[in-house]
Amino acid sequence: MNSKLIKKTKKIINFTPNLSDYHSVYKNHTLADAKKDIDFFGGKLNAAYNALERHTKTWRKNKVALYWMGAEGEKRNYTFTEMNDLSNQFANSLEYLKVGRGDRVFFFLTRVPELYYGFLGTLKTGAIVGTMFAAFGPQAIEDRLGNSSAKVVVTELELFKRVAKVVSKLPELETIMVVGDPKKIAKLEAKGKKVIAIDELMVTQSKKYKTHMMSPDDPAFMLYTSGTTGKPKGVVHTHKSIIHEHMSAKYVLDLKEDDVYWCTADPGWVTGVAYSILGSWSNGVSEVITNGKFSPEEWYKVIQDYKVTVWYTAPTAIRMLQASGDKLVKKYDLSSLRYLASVGEPLNPEPIRWGLKVFGLPFHDNWWQTETGGILIANYAAMDIKPGSMGKPLPGIRAEIVSDEGKVLGPNKEGNLSIKPGWPSMMQKIWRRPNKYKSYFEHGWYISGDRAFRDKDGYFWFIGRADDVIKTSGERVGPFEVESALIEHPSVIEAGVIGKPDPLRGEIIKAFVKLAPGYKGSENLKKQLQVFIKKHLAGHAYPREIEFVETLPKTRSGKIMRRLLKARELGLPIGDTSTLEEY
Ligand code: ATP
Ligand code: MG
Repeated sequence: MNSKLIKKTKKIINFTPNLSDYHSVYKNHTLADAKKDIDFFGGKLNAAYNALERHTKTWRKNKVALYWMGAEGEKRNYTFTEMNDLSNQFANSLEYLKVGRGDRVFFFLTRVPELYYGFLGTLKTGAIVGTMFAAFGPQAIEDRLGNSSAKVVVTELELFKRVAKVVSKLPELETIMVVGDPKKIAKLEAKGKKVIAIDELMVTQSKKYKTHMMSPDDPAFMLYTSGTTGKPKGVVHTHKSIIHEHMSAKYVLDLKEDDVYWCTADPGWVTGVAYSILGSWSNGVSEVITNGKFSPEEWYKVIQDYKVTVWYTAPTAIRMLQASGDKLVKKYDLSSLRYLASVGEPLNPEPIRWGLKVFGLPFHDNWWQTETGGILIANYAAMDIKPGSMGKPLPGIRAEIVSDEGKVLGPNKEGNLSIKPGWPSMMQKIWRRPNKYKSYFEHGWYISGDRAFRDKDGYFWFIGRADDVIKTSGERVGPFEVESALIEHPSVIEAGVIGKPDPLRGEIIKAFVKLAPGYKGSENLKKQLQVFIKKHLAGHAYPREIEFVETLPKTRSGKIMRRLLKARELGLPIGDTSTLEEY
């Protein structure tokens, strides 16, 4: 799709980026360079030491690590020292509960401070930490705690019931730690499991803790994938992943000492772990965490009130903000913003241009996966943006487009987006699924499962997940290009596109379209959209069928679940829906 280049004029980038000369850094980068920013002790390290503890030994000790805002708008700030003390008390609490190296501790919490210092405290002990979205129902909880054989789950009063429902099916679960009023917690029961009020246990514990230094390849955390394409996989990452998380936060998010950084992702999703706990704090940045629900008014107010400078969010949120209109943006003073980034789904050119219009800044798209443990391909502050492109690989990352036969393809050829294995945040295994793990590696490449191409300037372009690419009349069509073209039409806010079996054409393209406020679906509008797409894309790429919908099925991390659209359309079993956002 033809999109005008966004040049990095002084107006857009009025600071010196951490990565000011991408090409020379990319060419000369070594792992040793990345390791220089990370503290090792005799070859060992701890991700939590690097994210948190080390700052308490510098002038940052009294710097605010966390600006926290609760669901009711209550506000609390925590310095690096306060967070570190709390993480130590949490680590000591786990030792009291006889949790040791390699045991699994899971967090089933909303975005309360306990989630953040508890996560880091768990890492300090050498146990493996995992997270779950607070919106998960009993089945999703049972699947994850059962698959991981978690010994401890940390939850809160309001969520306790859902855990209690499934404990009888979790023989290895010993303790449920609960955030909330100890008097109320004292009355809770869970079929023989220990139920402990976190506050009561923590006050008895020391603020001092000797962090376990771990081998770089020791497992640190495990996260379940978003479940967009099937049953979520338990992806295990090691302590050395912090090397890449630190570097990517520094180079892609461009975090600097004076920034107020806001990553809107929940730690139930890998983005909220790698870039609101690990890589961001290891750069010593002050960050904002809010525990409220999404609303455009609230979000703009957060940026205004905390004077957020760097904002990392997702396409679905950007599209929803856009749908709430330009007038609303103007009611707030958002002049503190200096840098915007997006991840999780393809970022269509239209929202990038919208960002430029209303914030004066473009969103910088970047690509990665739960399995990659950190950002691998990105648009950088110093680099011009080709809207719709994911950008270029990070220093230390060799990305190529590889054919199904294992051949590296040249410019503009569609193939498997693949990475040379061995970067520090590459997954170590898929929990209890060794064959699944092996299936990612072929012909010496890590095969991401996404289809893409690279243009002659080295920019990568996302086409679609391998499963989602449509084969129509002998041509291959990526859902992303059709969705992006639909979004260009003023009546369309969001679109999900699938291939629907057709006896004549193999598949035909069907689009599910959410209209902008003020528009009504009609046969006439369908025709208009089809004509519009034909003008933008090759003739075979237009949707022969269009259906107007109120909402699109999405995962908790905001990804359109095209497999669900397809299953519903064809009356097929819908498969695992544990991560589906209710609507
Ligand atoms: P599952 O693996 O369970 O189906 P998932 O792949 O959605 O779920 P994640 O690891 O959260 O789980 O998401 C990674 C995927 O998200 C990528 O493989 C890609 O398809 C998509 N993605 C992430 N960022 C981008 C981006 N910038 N552009 C296009 N797609 C992206
Ligand atoms: Mg995936």
